[in-house]
Amino acid sequence: NKILDTATIRRDFPILNRTVKGYPLVYFDNAATSQKPQAVIDALVHYYTALNANVHRGIHTLAEEATAAFEATRDAVQQFINARHREEIIYTKGTTEGINLVAYTWGRKHLKEGDEVIISGMEHHSNIVPWQIVCEEKKAVLKVIPVKDNGELDMDTFHQLLTNKTKIVAVVHVSNALGTINPVEEIIDAAHKKGAVVLIDGAQSSMHLDIDVQQLDCDFFALSAHKMLGPSGAGVLYGKKDILEAMPVFNAGGEMIKEVTFEKTTYNELPYKFEAGTPNIADVIAFKPAIDYIQTIGKETIRRHEEELLHYATEKIKEIDGVRIIGEARNKASVLSFVIDQVHPQDVGILLDNKGIAVRTGHHCAEPLMARFKIPGTIRASFALYNTQEEVDILMEGLKKAVRLLR
Ligand code: PMP
Repeated sequence: NKILDTATIRRDFPILNRTVKGYPLVYFDNAATSQKPQAVIDALVHYYTALNANVHRGIHTLAEEATAAFEATRDAVQQFINARHREEIIYTKGTTEGINLVAYTWGRKHLKEGDEVIISGMEHHSNIVPWQIVCEEKKAVLKVIPVKDNGELDMDTFHQLLTNKTKIVAVVHVSNALGTINPVEEIIDAAHKKGAVVLIDGAQSSMHLDIDVQQLDCDFFALSAHKMLGPSGAGVLYGKKDILEAMPVFNAGGEMIKEVTFEKTTYNELPYKFEAGTPNIADVIAFKPAIDYIQTIGKETIRRHEEELLHYATEKIKEIDGVRIIGEARNKASVLSFVIDQVHPQDVGILLDNKGIAVRTGHHCAEPLMARFKIPGTIRASFALYNTQEEVDILMEGLKKAVRLLR
């Protein structure tokens, strides 16, 4: 492993030392969730050991220290995605909640009968269902950018789908099921010319690509900490300040208010306006060491390492008879999705697990995409910074054996 010193990196991820069914764990399910470095685990333990207090409310020392740590993550995320203002960083549970927030607040306010919402044919269910719900409620039309045979978006059709009625375009940056990196700059630019806003689902891209929301000029960007070495249950919705300020509130309760009387309630400023209730304090705090970890190694280095693994695995898998790779976009990140003639993905997954190899099988929360390729699901190996070529070799050996047994 020439690009990254994976031996050193692997020592930072204690779970990689465990065995599964008597074999060393080979973890290739990183698109579902990444493993956590010791620094993240330590931050979680430290919070409950030494800091535990509710944030923003107390004047005592613990509350102040917890609040400072909680808000430090906001600064780290702001810098990580290059947002102009720190109050543009809204804490959520994850990407799903971020998209729902936009659909239920922005969507309900701005969509009217006959308006159009554009998503793509490779969306995760979390970027389909919220739009279906608001479109149905508002009698708006949901349009879908088709996916080409190679797993890229059909951009010619996208430009035709865009009309003056298009109010929002919500697309995935990197597909979790195919690995396709979508041309979001082009999408954002074209949508803005029609006066539409754009939401980017960054669940997969935030770990693998350099994210600069000002350069992208997207209006919303949603991410999940757990896909980026951080804890589950924490995430961020970025939104442009003027848009967020004009949006109605989402959850209502404590923290999001300025003043409450039974006659009238006024709302808090950004970002707190969208952060009702006691947040997921420990997980937000422990997200910062994850960001620090990524930045210490460097996104560019991580990306080159993962590209090398993807390239290696893509070549190696061709040795297996009857393999069909699903998603062969020219621009691809870290995901190898495939089917094998005459064998069911789930059976392969079970046999691989018997050798300690964790891959994902199934529809990857993208059922319409599977339907488009006329398959029930795929076998998906997704790579991270701590994976090695030796592990890819183990996967390929496991696949060969599985195919021999199943055919
Ligand atoms: N979008 C994409 C592309 C994803 O891969 C995922 C997670 N699999 C999500 C959205 C939803 O993220 P979460 O479950 O963390 O809310």
